[in-house]
Amino acid sequence: MNWDEFSDWGAKIAEWAQDYHLTVGDNPVRARTEPGDILNALPARPPERSQAMEEIFHDFEQIVMPGITHWQHPRFFAYFNANASAPSVLAEFLTSAIAPQCMLWQTSPAATEMETRMMDWLRQALDLPTGFAGVIQDSASSATLAAVLTMREKALNWQGNQQGLFGQKPLRVYCSAEVHTSVDRAIWVAGIGQENLVRVPIQGDWRGMDPQALETAIQADLDSGYQPTGVILCVGGTGTGAADPVEECLKIAQKYGLYSHVDAAWAGSAMICPEYRHYWEGVEQADSIVFNPHKWLGVQFDCCAHFLKDPDDLVRTLAISPEFLKTHGKDGIINYSEWSVPLGRRFRALKLWFVIRAYGLEGLRERLRNHITWSVALHDRLKAESDFEITTNPMWSLWTFRYAPPGSTDLDDLNLRLVNAINDDGRIYLTQTRVDGDLVIRFQAGQFETTQADVQMAFDVITEIARSLN
Ligand SMILES: *Cc1c(COP(=O)(O)O)cnc(C)c1O
Repeated sequence: MNWDEFSDWGAKIAEWAQDYHLTVGDNPVRARTEPGDILNALPARPPERSQAMEEIFHDFEQIVMPGITHWQHPRFFAYFNANASAPSVLAEFLTSAIAPQCMLWQTSPAATEMETRMMDWLRQALDLPTGFAGVIQDSASSATLAAVLTMREKALNWQGNQQGLFGQKPLRVYCSAEVHTSVDRAIWVAGIGQENLVRVPIQGDWRGMDPQALETAIQADLDSGYQPTGVILCVGGTGTGAADPVEECLKIAQKYGLYSHVDAAWAGSAMICPEYRHYWEGVEQADSIVFNPHKWLGVQFDCCAHFLKDPDDLVRTLAISPEFLKTHGKDGIINYSEWSVPLGRRFRALKLWFVIRAYGLEGLRERLRNHITWSVALHDRLKAESDFEITTNPMWSLWTFRYAPPGSTDLDDLNLRLVNAINDDGRIYLTQTRVDGDLVIRFQAGQFETTQADVQMAFDVITEIARSLN
């Protein structure tokens, strides 16, 4: 395959992709394969000789596509969505054709300067105050790791990278049990240790951290000779959409001089709508905030927006400047690789530019508002059915339920069977979580091409399959 054949194949694949997106709703959402099916269909040895693109593409359709779970399916209601809107896919096509490395300003000035501008567009879209600077990370997990490393270095007076943690007081980080597992992993990788991740109890309908309990935990640690280091809050937790009381918790963090990080990976996108911002009131007091345009904002994975009140803390933690990376004579420029753990960086700002311009903020808001409205309407309908229980109320477009027909005993088993049967059926895709120990089923809507009819269909599928279980 040579570049002079590229445009033929490019056109063919563009046509294939358009057709795929227009008809993806006709497929079962979750892949119907058994473990090993795809592995066994792939030759055990690599080819020694060149193969024709026709053959490669044929096998892609025959072998790969049957093993794909369709994340762009309009009735994908599992996990959180990972939207790839049409303008975003086009931007990614261009990015992969140019394939620039964007680690330093000089290695791609357009990428760096567009990243600065796009992060400021997002800052305005979320109504965060001027002064917050931003960087695009590959994932929320990476942003959270960067924030945890920063809080560690600050607490150690910038000596941790040099001296390691040996002989230091144990560093303590506070969060609720509703945060994403990426927080645990950041704590492991940063050398802080799981035992020093303190779980503060939650309270109330939003399942948010109890601020008084936070202060009590910090005090107890100070009394025991530990070093309180940082607070990690969640706004829109993965299980049930839990939201910590940001303002009260950040006041306590500030009182004790602790670095703060807010994980709004999913729900942050909804903050482009003023009516949902009460869920994170006070967020402008945070040191670090993360949200993923690659979830609900239509921007293809990967694209994670990381805002920093003072990027110098992050850069002081992560910048490393060997001679070959120095850009002499270009003072005042940003080298974004100093803001993240990996050195190499993709040109991710381009797809934000395409998406925000192609939809406009109003177009994006309209989609999110529809998802939330339709999801809440489904919740209202299911709530009215006497054999179903709502287990957590809607937080944005996410809520949980379980099937609890009168006289049934093992509800965990019944609901696990229900979610499996629904996913085997294939018309919709749901996942389960636990609420106070009980197995419950999550519903969330957020796919870009989802319609009201798609969400309504979930009611028929859920009730029909549940009542046929016995
Ligand atoms: C999805 C999610 C993450 C992880 O995001 P990645 O970008 O995949 O690392 C972290 N926190 C929350 C609340 C999430 O919903």
